[in-house]
Amino acid sequence: MFEKSTWIKLPRSVLLGHGVLDDLGAAVDDLYLSGRPLVVTSPTPNDLAGDRVREQFDDPATAIVEEASFGAVEDVIETAEAVDPEFLLAVGGGKPIDTAKMAADHLGVGFVSVPTAASHDGIVSGRSSIPEGDTRHSVAADPPLAVVADTELLADAPWELTTAGCADIISNHTAVKDWRLARRLRNVEYSEYAGALSQMTAELLVANADSIKPGLEESSWIVAKALVSSGVAMSIAGSSRPASGAEHLVSHQLDRIAPGKALHGHQAGVASIVTEYLHGGEDGEWRSIRDALASIDAPTTAEELGVTDAEFIEALTTAHEIRDRYTILSGGVNEEAAVQVATETGII
Ligand SMILES: [Zn+2]
Repeated sequence: MFEKSTWIKLPRSVLLGHGVLDDLGAAVDDLYLSGRPLVVTSPTPNDLAGDRVREQFDDPATAIVEEASFGAVEDVIETAEAVDPEFLLAVGGGKPIDTAKMAADHLGVGFVSVPTAASHDGIVSGRSSIPEGDTRHSVAADPPLAVVADTELLADAPWELTTAGCADIISNHTAVKDWRLARRLRNVEYSEYAGALSQMTAELLVANADSIKPGLEESSWIVAKALVSSGVAMSIAGSSRPASGAEHLVSHQLDRIAPGKALHGHQAGVASIVTEYLHGGEDGEWRSIRDALASIDAPTTAEELGVTDAEFIEALTTAHEIRDRYTILSGGVNEEAAVQVATETGII
């Protein structure tokens, strides 16, 4: 008897390109949302885009998020309970978007994602990543009702945020390999559609790496489209699997071991050089991952990440302790082997 079922949640509208921030009001209208929004943002994006956002709505309220934390989520929920918004508008980078996503989930209202930096795939996905103490929680929530990504704003963001978004996408390559490995060895549910879409997204980004240059609005266009595509892959899969394998576990460990040193996407990118080596060996595709990262100015070494060799090795040897997700690192890598692979691949 056939008993499978799935519920795929996707953004209903994605507006992407030059000047689309001014279409935010129309995009919200199109979702049949009419009431008061609560704009969840942080200081810099609020200065850059807050007024342009607010002027498109009647009586908007604003909550300023200084950091992504459970405390910040609580604060947004408290503000929302006081102003009773019909929906949340998350304006900014990872911090306000992750915070608004979790708060919206708790409040039972929708949210619209208005990224001001193309720095990671959380701008589109239903996953929220919130640090707590020395760990980071990945929480499942609904994806945004709409995404409004203005390439003019994205292109003005610091260049390293864009290269971090690129590196996050490039790391999909090994995430999909880990997912397939988990299917083979642990019979983990695997979606051919989501796996193929995620892999193709990484390949297209690498193929377009020449057009990814600082100051070019087209770079933001390419990266933002890739982030949307990666987010759709996660929605189809109903998990972060298509975009998060062992390389993300290493990145999460680096968040704990060397907090605040490097951007999420950069960490995942460097780690994916190693995990690709572990998947494919010396003759595998690790060089093409490294070269793709280098060609867009993303880090390819521990030093470029701003972490010590010892910190990187610790992240690599402890990544398997994090969570119950089968990957190439699940058996654990001992220190000697970790040093060897990191040396082979030029990371340390
Ligand atoms: Zn990521």
